[in-house]
Amino acid sequence: MPKKFKIVFDKEACIGAFFCISTDPKNWVNAPYDNRKVDLRNGIFNPETKKFEKVVNEDEFMEEAEKTCPVFAIKIVEISEADAEKWKEWAQSEEIVKANRDLHLTAAKKSAEQQ
Ligand code: SF4
Repeated sequence: MPKKFKIVFDKEACIGAFFCISTDPKNWVNAPYDNRKVDLRNGIFNPETKKFEKVVNEDEFMEEAEKTCPVFAIKIVEISEADAEKWKEWAQSEEIVKANRDLHLTAAKKSAEQQ
């Protein structure tokens, strides 16, 4: 069983230095609609912490993204298999799905307005 890790992204803190994209483009993507910040690909917004989260296997991310971020906006921590399962349930809960749907609609609207 591969080890599990949780990536936590504080988008408020992000200054758009883009080191994360250059070190780990599979997980980080440009978000030009949002003040030149980045997005954590398929990240789930946590309305409680106001941060984005994603659980990945050990071979699905580059830890350099955390190390090179100049404002410590990225945290990557190892979690247990049980916690990974709990996180998945949380991410699929009605409240979280709705919060993320609203967020994506706002992002799509901002993006369309800028074109
Ligand atoms: S390295 Fe940090 S500050 Fe730079 S874009 Fe990525 S998250 Fe934002």
